Amino acid sequence: MNHNDRALHWLYLLGGALTALCATTSARHGAYWYAAGLAAVTFLLVIAAIREYVDADERRAAAVRAERAVRVRALSDERQLRQIADSLGHSCCERWWTSCGAEHASTCRNQGVQR
Ligand SMILES: [Zn+2]
Repeated sequence: MNHNDRALHWLYLLGGALTALCATTSARHGAYWYAAGLAAVTFLLVIAAIREYVDADERRAAAVRAERAVRVRALSDERQLRQIADSLGHSCCERWWTSCGAEHASTCRNQGVQR
């Protein structure tokens, strides 16, 4: 739950408490229709607060799943790159790449080594 979710959650609860107080006051003064309406609004605000809490939990779980999927994909990519490097005999210089593995650059440490 981030700051906005938490603030919205507490605003819903605060609004629910305020409308509950207004409903109680209306009922004490005999305004039963107002009390019923305010009680309904209180109920809706409590439902909204609960949904906000549950949705934030689901969003957090979805974010964790997405992060895990990205890590798995990154590991898979890294594994594939390692396999390619292994199959190419761990290239060492740009000249080696551009000559399809036939030549090494003059500064390459593997110059003269045949693969
Ligand atoms: Zn080289």
